[in-house]
Amino acid sequence: MPEYTIETPPIIALPIMGTDRLFPVRRVYCIGRNYAAHAIEMGHDPDRELPFFFQKNPDNLDWSGEFPYPTQTSNVHHEVEMAIALKSGGSNIPLDEALDHVFGYALSLDMTRRDLQGQAKKMGLPWEIGKAFERSAPIGPIHPVSDIGHLDQGSIALSLNGQKVQEGNLNQMIWKVPEMITYLSEYFVLAPGDVILSGTPAGVGPVNKGDEMEISIQGLGSMIIKVV
Ligand code: MN
Repeated sequence: MPEYTIETPPIIALPIMGTDRLFPVRRVYCIGRNYAAHAIEMGHDPDRELPFFFQKNPDNLDWSGEFPYPTQTSNVHHEVEMAIALKSGGSNIPLDEALDHVFGYALSLDMTRRDLQGQAKKMGLPWEIGKAFERSAPIGPIHPVSDIGHLDQGSIALSLNGQKVQEGNLNQMIWKVPEMITYLSEYFVLAPGDVILSGTPAGVGPVNKGDEMEISIQGLGSMIIKVV
């Protein structure tokens, strides 16, 4: 067996609630504008247009409870989202089988360099520079479906320094969990270890060093992330 010529990159693996086992991550897909009120606040028509996705890198996931303020920006926004972790995948997954592929759900944040994302949008450029930066996806432990079932309703919220600024309900998603899985599987081959961030409700806004974000989703508890 040939040896690698450089240090091998680590496998990114998320803690699983109530176990000492880990969930290895393959890819991270994120949907844009999946709550009507957030689409409106970003200046878009909330009508059900086709969904669109971008990706973060697996090693952007971070479960330390700290979010280091990133470089090259002066406007970093919080976006609380529910993460969906897949245990299996495939292509052209039928809608009525989509949920069978879900391993579990987790609290997460799609932290965004909004100024850089805005420039990219204006110039028709890709979003990575605004979205897929170091530690841009704080995430909590995965709660297995075998413990908590599937989540299709319940509050999703973010408090900044004790004040609730983002609030919505999972049932307000424009594209529901099974629909996102089916749609993605028509464009990509989904596989075990894929994670989908399912969009953010209204109320996104900037964070500063020293801020404390508390994110919560009914059924997944809550988690505090400090901006450092
Ligand atoms: Mn988002």
